[in-house]
Formats: sequence, structure tokens, C-alpha cells
Amino acid sequence: MKTIIEPFKIKSVEPIKFTTRDERERILKEAYYNVFLIPAEEVLIDLLTDSGTSAMSADQWAGIMKGDESYAGARSFYRFEKKVRELTGLKHIIPTHQGRAAERILFSIVGGKGKYVPNNSHFDTTRANVEFSGAEAVDLPTEEGKRPEVIADFKGNMDVPSLEAFIKKVGRENIPLCMITVTNNSGGGQPVSMKNIRETKSVCTKYGIPFFLDACRFAENAYFIKKREPGYANISVKQIVQEMFSYADGATMSAKKDALVNMGGFLAINDDKLATSARNLLIVTEGFPTYGGLAGRDLEAIAQGLDEILDEHYLQYRIRSVEYLGEKLTKAGVAILQPPGGHAIYLDAKRILPHIPPGEYPGQSLVAELYRVGGIRAVEIGSVMFGKYESDGQLIPARMELVRLAIPRRVYTQSHIDYVIEVVVETFEKRQALKGYEIVEEAPMLRHFTAKFSPMN
Ligand SMILES: *Cc1c(COP(=O)(O)O)cnc(C)c1O
Repeated sequence: MKTIIEPFKIKSVEPIKFTTRDERERILKEAYYNVFLIPAEEVLIDLLTDSGTSAMSADQWAGIMKGDESYAGARSFYRFEKKVRELTGLKHIIPTHQGRAAERILFSIVGGKGKYVPNNSHFDTTRANVEFSGAEAVDLPTEEGKRPEVIADFKGNMDVPSLEAFIKKVGRENIPLCMITVTNNSGGGQPVSMKNIRETKSVCTKYGIPFFLDACRFAENAYFIKKREPGYANISVKQIVQEMFSYADGATMSAKKDALVNMGGFLAINDDKLATSARNLLIVTEGFPTYGGLAGRDLEAIAQGLDEILDEHYLQYRIRSVEYLGEKLTKAGVAILQPPGGHAIYLDAKRILPHIPPGEYPGQSLVAELYRVGGIRAVEIGSVMFGKYESDGQLIPARMELVRLAIPRRVYTQSHIDYVIEVVVETFEKRQALKGYEIVEEAPMLRHFTAKFSPMN
């Protein structure tokens, strides 16, 4: 088999800025060791997120020019709606400015005190929106999904027996909907099998609970199903996507992921009454239902991106380039969440830095060091992001201490990735010298975005 190459050539380039180690040390300090507070210009390779960081295609840029900016009923909206409906089969397609806007609208209608929302694993904004409504966000990953060293095909799966037990425990009337996140972002970008989606749907149907997909990475998930799940090898990714959505009563989507755009999202639902309430809220906070906080050109680019994401050469390159990074790091002895996920490699900071306890944020330490060593920006997905406090102020650590290296779509080449490998391996070799961090300032919700840190002595 020949090398899997980037299935595109580069038409437009964006220079990246090189800094010295001394400059990076100063920049880190000025940002209180929180890489979210570092100006992007000072970052060499930005792996903070794959969200909204995709490179658009020539056809998407052409769509930007063709965008219809009419306030109501724009042509671009109808193209967007048609494309989303073609893939999801869902009745009401409601554009939003990004995924969390869809979540906020959905959970402010169905959430509230005394309600529970089960999910294979909530993403941070999803959890925040569920909890902001007063409801409780409940993660039900499988046992193998909780173990970063286990290699399995579908570690993103929902624990279906636990879901049923949970429904019986709290009562179906207290569960407004059940969600599956594809791929499972917080669980390591791991895919969910079609069988698991089907079984989850069947439990939901048994208890009369609507089933929703958090569909941000639907195409990556579908490609994994094609590669790994018996019976799907000869089915097109598009058909797999359509089958996945055929089980859903609704979906939330951040178009900043698998729609290959820099901004956008949608809420799609079958229920007429729910859709009416959602549109009413949309008008108050996002915009008229045919633009929902987006420009016509954005809707045009999303429609085009939803076509391009299904290109199987693209998906092969996408999944393989992440796997390549994972393989090289594993070979060098770096502990990562296995197997490599769809959009990112997750370094296992708990195993890499066993000398730093969770209360001193080993993931944060690794993130700061990757920037210091090579100007790489990663993100902590551990006790900084998901830690909570006991009433006496004691930290309840997250289940895992991960550092995510998210790969923007169509942005970096193989030599960029080779450089990343070199920096991670160098950091790994000097891991004994790394120290923990303490939080000196934080917000009550989503604290990782703005928290200020100080290195421990
Ligand atoms: C990014 C993401 C969201 C939120 O979308 P935004 O566009 O960032 O608001 C929700 N769920 C998952 C799984 C995501 O990856």
C-alpha cells in the first residue's frame, strides 16, 4: 500500500510565526499558564481544537460569494436545509450560530430541575447547558470506554444496560431525552457502533424517551463504522450516515467540526411542538428561523462542507493522519488513549506524569510544557476541565487526566505532524522534571477557558 496523501493541493497559505524558548516562557507567564489566554499568533502549531479551524475548499469559498443575504427565506438557507435533511432525514432544520446555541435552546426547553439527561459522554458545553437549565447531565460510557489503555473498536459506546437501569431508577418521566455523542469527544474521539446506536434507540423507544445525536463528528464516526463494524465495509459513508440519523428523533450539530466551516451549527428535530418552541427561542436570541445567527454565506459553506466531508478519500486521509501521530507516539513509549480517535490524540497525563497528583493538574503541566518546548498548543481534558468541588472545597478529580492534540481539518501537512511528534517525544523524555500547577483564579462554570495558574514549587 502506498502512502496515504493529503487529498488536496494548497491554493492559499497562511504563514506561521516562530518564537524562541525565552519568548515562549514569557508568553506563558503573561497568560498565567493558560494556553487559552495566549494570542494565536504566538503559537506555531495550534492543536487546541479541531473546532472552527478547518481549511475551507475553493468550492466553499465560491459559496461564500454566492451566499444569499436575504433576511427571510434566503436561497442559501434552502440549500442548507435540503442538505441537512438529506443526511438526517429530520423534519425541522433550525440553523444556529454554533453547537452550544442549539444545546442551549434545546435544554432550556426540555431541561430543568429534577430532570436527567443521559449521554455516552457529555461534551463540556453540552454538560454546561444541561446543568445551566437545572437538570443533571449523566455520563454512561462502557467499562472499556473508561480504560485509556484498552484497545477496542467502539470505545465511544453507550453502556446500554446501565442506561436501562438508570431509566428505571429515576423514572422515564424525568428523562426528557437521551443523547449519544458521535464520535465520543470527551471519551477520546472514540466511535460509537451502529449496533450501539440501534440498541440505545430501542431502549429509548421502550420507555418512550426521545433519542438525540450530538452529531458533531458524524462523518468520522461513520467512517469508523465502515472500517470496523461487520456488514458495513461495502456500504457508502453517506448511507451509513443516513442510517445513523434514521434512529434519531433529533440532533444537535456544531458545523465547526464535520461541516468543514469556521462557524455554524444546527438543531434538527422531528417533534412539531418542540420545533415551534425552539424556533420561538431562536428568534429571541439567535435570529429569524431561516438564518439563526448565521450569514447566508455561512449556510452556503456549510451545505458545501456537508458534501465534501463524505468524500471517502478525505476520511481515509483524516483518520489515517491521526492514527499516524498515535502510532509514532506509542512507538516512542508515550502513553496515549488507545486506540487513536477520529479527530485527536489524547496523551494520558496520569500515566506520563505519575509524580504529579490530580490536584496539581498533570494535564495542565504537560500542556504548558508542550508550548514551552515547541510552541504547540494543546488542551487539558482532565481535572481542570471536569474537576468539581466537594462542599468543603476539596477537589473531586476527573476520571481521566488527558491532554488533547486536536487536528484541524485539512490544515497541517505530514511534516507538521512529524514536528509535533518530535516535540511530544522530547517533552516525554524530560517528564521527570515537570511540576504541578495550582489554580489561582477561576470562573464558576467552564473554568478551563479563563482560569489562571501558577507553577508549584
Ligand atoms: C464542539 C462540540 C460541541 C459544541 O459546539 P460549539 O460549536 O463549540 O458550540 C458540542 N458537542 C460536541 C461533541 C462537540 O465536539
